[in-house]
Amino acid sequence: MKVAMISLHTSPLEQPGVGDAGGMNVYVINTARQLARRGVEVDIYTRATRPSQGQVVEVEENLRVINIVAGPYEGLAKEELPTQLAAFAGGVLEYVRCREPLTYDVIHSHYWLSGQVGWLLRDLWAAPLIHTAHTLAAVKNAHRSDEDTPESEARRICEQQLVDNADLLVVNTEEETRDLVAHYDADADVVEIIPPGADTELFTPGTDRNTELSRRQLGIPLHAKVVAFVGRLQEFKGPQVLLRAAAELFERDPHRNLRILLCGGVSGASSSDTTYRDLAAELGISRRVRFLGPRPPEELVHVYQAADIVAMPSYNESFGLVAVEAQATGTPVVAARAGGLSIAVADGETGLLVDTHDASDWADALAALLDDDARRSAMGEAAVGHAARFSWAGAAERLESVYERALSEELSGCHQRNAGG
Ligand code: UDP
Repeated sequence: MKVAMISLHTSPLEQPGVGDAGGMNVYVINTARQLARRGVEVDIYTRATRPSQGQVVEVEENLRVINIVAGPYEGLAKEELPTQLAAFAGGVLEYVRCREPLTYDVIHSHYWLSGQVGWLLRDLWAAPLIHTAHTLAAVKNAHRSDEDTPESEARRICEQQLVDNADLLVVNTEEETRDLVAHYDADADVVEIIPPGADTELFTPGTDRNTELSRRQLGIPLHAKVVAFVGRLQEFKGPQVLLRAAAELFERDPHRNLRILLCGGVSGASSSDTTYRDLAAELGISRRVRFLGPRPPEELVHVYQAADIVAMPSYNESFGLVAVEAQATGTPVVAARAGGLSIAVADGETGLLVDTHDASDWADALAALLDDDARRSAMGEAAVGHAARFSWAGAAERLESVYERALSEELSGCHQRNAGG
């Protein structure tokens, strides 16, 4: 089987945790790798952002990343990429045409920008389109904080077109299926639920020695308690909630030996390089907060191992890969009860779910675990087993069967386009 994956707005080879690169990049590269190991040939098409990338990157047997030039390498924000959809689709078509007889059995698009291109290719190639939204404008808008910028109606319309026209939709959780039905009137029969995974060979439980080494490497006092936030620094992911909760904990006990780590880089239009540093300064906790910048997975494992708790105060997550990765290293997670986090974290067993984004509720939840070593370490142990339920190999196996389903269901060949949105 040959699959054309489309990941237009961000390359799966980019460093995640900064800018537009995050869980989707990790999802695409890991499912693609595992599909390739199952013998599925995968080409991932993405927009070229550096001349040095080369057009074709052979990642491993059966897996290539193809960089398509569409617009300038630098200087286009994600919001401006709709202007490059035709150039990108044209680039993919030209690449394929010049390599005839290159053909694909299925197209799998990730995020709505790629979906729009996949929709066109599906008709031209008469191959089924499988679409994964990763996030949805209507859902983000329903959950965003008052300070966050709303997603555009134009994006929502494009997503509606994909829901109406893709052959199958892939989501992470049942809640996402419900969201697609409630907000986009999707037919639940074409929605397939495939939980994502975590690299449990890399993200392994830290022994006391690992934790000590990780802390030494990061320059964190061995006897401090550490709460880490890992992910893109933007309002929707809630780093501000953690900072405010930390400030409240220090207000309750100025001598509390606590450090906050923020691992990741700025993302999105609503925050700048200094947004969260300024907030930490304003809250008077700068000395207790460390900004680690984005880190590759091999280094991230040390951040998880150094932490007593990983906090995920997101307003919504389609899944929340960080929660699974942290638990795989034996670190309990305190997360917002939002989207996939309710599945990624077993409330009361491997961490805690918090119902609000209120600083005092978060301070309570963090204190409940920080101040109870026995409970926290029991949760850490349970977390490893919980995380083991999620694997990329399992996700790829299920994806392959979704591709087979799409192939076995008769395609009309000339789909009745529903272009309204
Ligand atoms: N990540 C990373 N380095 C960082 C911060 C994050 O590699 O400094 C990765 C992290 O390992 C995870 C992904 O980025 O796999 C974030 O995924 P998640 O689903 O938690 O959030 P999303 O980015 O999809 O909102």
